[in-house]
Parts: sequence; structure tokens; C-alpha cells
Amino acid sequence: MIKRLIRKVFGINRRDDPTVLSAAQHGIARDQISNGARKVCESLQASGYAAYVVGGAVRDLLQGVKPKDFDVATDATPEQVHRVIRRSRLIGRRFKLVHALFGAETVEVSTFRAGTQDAAEPVPDHDAAVDEHGRVLRDNVFGTRVQDAARRDFTINALYYDPVNETVLDYHAGVADLRRKAVRIIGDATQRYREDPVRMLRAIRFAAKLDFSIAADTRKPIGELTDLLRNVPASRLFEETLKLLLSGHAVACVRKLREEGLQRGVLPILDEIAAEAQSERFLQLALAQTDRRLHEDKPISPAFLFATVLWHGVRHAWHDAMDQGARPVPAIQDVMDGVIDRHNDTLAIPRRFTATMKEIWALQPRLEANSGRRPYALLEHPRFRAAYDFLALRAESGEVSAELVDWWTRFQIASSAEREQMLLPQTAGSAPRRRRRRRPGSARPDERGISTGTAASNADQPPADGPGALTRGDGASRGPDAL
Ligand code: ATP
Ligand code: MG
Repeated sequence: MIKRLIRKVFGINRRDDPTVLSAAQHGIARDQISNGARKVCESLQASGYAAYVVGGAVRDLLQGVKPKDFDVATDATPEQVHRVIRRSRLIGRRFKLVHALFGAETVEVSTFRAGTQDAAEPVPDHDAAVDEHGRVLRDNVFGTRVQDAARRDFTINALYYDPVNETVLDYHAGVADLRRKAVRIIGDATQRYREDPVRMLRAIRFAAKLDFSIAADTRKPIGELTDLLRNVPASRLFEETLKLLLSGHAVACVRKLREEGLQRGVLPILDEIAAEAQSERFLQLALAQTDRRLHEDKPISPAFLFATVLWHGVRHAWHDAMDQGARPVPAIQDVMDGVIDRHNDTLAIPRRFTATMKEIWALQPRLEANSGRRPYALLEHPRFRAAYDFLALRAESGEVSAELVDWWTRFQIASSAEREQMLLPQTAGSAPRRRRRRRPGSARPDERGISTGTAASNADQPPADGPGALTRGDGASRGPDAL
């Protein structure tokens, strides 16, 4: 009675008996489950444990989307899982998980957990598990399947698929929400965001990825709780923001972030960018290119991506330094760290990425000075391709001339004789000269016939005599950590 009252007050809409859907009802075929996840479930069940495919994979399969990966939840403890599945390793300190290894596939196996909503339940020490903002400090309490379903974030993420008997267990009407195309939080939205503010960002990501709307009650408190993101470690915010940008729906994610005001908590620079047409154009081109590459299964470099997002800040600081009389190359070198530092409190970009971002930025003024012998040296630079792709985006947004990018496109594939020819006019005065420097934001898009798409299509299509050499973004295509 009291428990029921507490649940009602806190809006916890938990049902202990799930809706069970048969194969005919849910339509997932067993062979849509990865080999590894299926084997993990079969082995654990054969040893007497419960084991299900959970989370995003079930949601995506029901939605006809190819799952990114498969996670398994079980009532076996990590040690028990490790004993049943020999090729596996225990990971994590705070909360142990098991990684089961099947060739190239790694299946993450987690033990059912209880969440803080279960404070009303006899879970040991549970009332000490949140801080003064309601944020979860500890969610390392094993739980039942019912509790495991309730601690998950959204109804559409709390679905359990049993590949042995081919049923789907639905505790929170997630299947109905999939049909309604709604992202709905489990329990009371304010409380769940207080426990973990990152859930607000996750709501945005799933809505954008699935083209769903965020249910009214789930959406309502977001505007008031944005500040809670300040309590989230900057490294976690980086990871979550990266997931948004690499969701394949970055354009939609950024639009939704702004609609909900959440950009203030993760990327405040998005407001400055919105205020300047050219910067906004540059950002949108970069995000759209990222989405396109992901849909084409091409790799993406987080460093390149974050270099584009912060470029607005670098460009302004750079131009300010040049207005004070600094020369272009040293000027940009001097301002880069400041721009990165300014963002680090909110969102900590790992050093392995900032190093590459700085190289891409530092090459910009050098690409603009394409005279003398310098272009030869630049071609050899390990970040040349990424920097060239970056320059192409700048041209497409109207910041530098399309001719400059075109010159570099031709220079890369030209023979030695042609290259000499291209460099000769420098003295004759007809080389593609750097555009006269203007204040950032004062670009005149009509000048020099900035043709939308020119740079991208130039680079997107392998030149006839350079087999694929100039595929746009190739510089950013050596695996996520390559740059
Ligand atoms: P994706 O397609 O991005 O992998 P996903 O739903 O699988 O989506 P993960 O981050 O892999 O997302 O998390 C797996 C599952 O763990 C989620 O489906 C959800 O049930 C649960 N989960 C993850 N993060 C949270 C969170 N912050 N709060 C509550 N539940 C969470
Ligand atoms: Mg997942």
C-alpha cells in the first residue's frame, strides 16, 4: 500500500509482470541476433541462468534499424558469466561487466541491476546512492529483472529478447511507444534527470536517430534542468556529445539540442555560431558531411569533427590576433590553446584529439599561402588531407575562395611538370592568390561565385587520373583515433 503510494507520488509506473510478445507478434528473427550474443544467451541459459539481449539492439530490430552492437543482461554475476563463457574478461572497477569475445565481436554482458527508484525496496544502503542534486553516485547494486527494467532510461530501451524461446519481454509499454514513435522516460522525468542528467542528451539522441518525438512529460523538465549538466564530469559530456555527433543524425541532434536549450550545457559555442550566418553554414556543412559519411559506412574522425565545431572560436581569435599585427601562421598557433581551454570546463576533448585538431587548424594559413616551394612540403604533411578537406568546407561556406581549393585539388594530382607550371605564375602574378583577409563573418557569399557543393563534389569524386586519391574526408578516414 505504502509502496504503491510512493510509486504513485514519484510517478513510477512499474509493472512486475511484463507483456510477453511471441515471435509472430514482434517479428524479430533469431538470425538477426549476432552470433556472439546468441551464443552468450544459449550458454548462460544452458547453465541455468536467465539471459536476454537487451537495450538498443532490441529497440533497433523492432524498428527495422540495424543494431550497432548487442548487449546481454543476465542474472548471473560477472564471475559466474566468466566461468560459463571462457573467452571473456571482466572489466570495470565500479561496476563489473563481462566482455565475451567471439572473433571480431565483443558482447557486453551485464548483471541485472537495481536503480535508485528502488529506494522504497529493501536494497542495501540504497539511500546513500545519490548526491544532493539527486545524481546517481552508485548504481552497482545487483537486482532482479524487474528492477533492471525499471532502472533503464526509456521505455523503448527496456525490452528483453530471449533468443532461445524467441519472446520479447516488455515491462514499460516500450513496444507501444515504438509504434507511437515516442521517447518516454521510465518513471518521473525530473527525478530520472536529476539522477543522471546525461539522460536528457540521450533523449535527444534517440529522438533524432529514430525520428521520434520526445513525449511531453519526458520533454517538459528538460528546459529547467539544463544546468544539471554542469555536475556531469567533462569527460563524460565529451563522450555523450561525441555519440550525438556520430549518431548519423548530427544535423537533427544539433537542431534538437538547440530546441531544448541543452547546447548551453555541452557546446555553448553553438549559440555564437548561430549568430553568424557563415559560421552556421560551415557547421551545417560539416555536420551534414559527417552524417553522409556515416550513412555510406565511411569512417569519421572525431578530431576533424571537433575541429569544425570549434572553428568559429579559432577563426575569430585568429583574426583578432592578426588585426593586432600578428602574422597568420604564428597568430593561429597562439590562439588555438585558448579556444580549447575555454571549452574544456564544459566538455573535455581528449588530448589525442586536440593535438590533431590543432594540426588541422595550423595548416589552414599555410594552405592559403600556396606559393614558392611550400606546397610541396605541405603535401607531405601527415594531416594534409584532413586540412585540405577542412579548407574545402571553409570554401563551401564562403570563407575562402573556391579557386584555392580547386588549386590544391589539381596540385595533388598534377605531374611534376604541371606542378612547376602551377607554381610558376606566382612570379608572373597570376597564381591563385590568397583572398584579402576580412573580418570573420563579413564574407560576401556572392563574391567569386562561391558555389555550394563545388568543393564537396570536387573532392567527393575521385579525379579521373587519381584513383580515389581525393575522396573527400580521406584525411579523416583512418579510423576514429587515426587523426
Ligand atoms: P545505442 O544504439 O546508442 O547503442 P543503446 O540504447 O544500446 O543505444 P547504450 O548506451 O549502449 O545505448 O546503453 C545500453 C542500454 O543501457 C540502454 O538501452 C539503456 O537501457 C541502458 N542505459 C544506458 N545508459 C543509461 C542511463 N544513463 N540511464 C539509464 N539507463 C541507461
Ligand atoms: Mg548499445
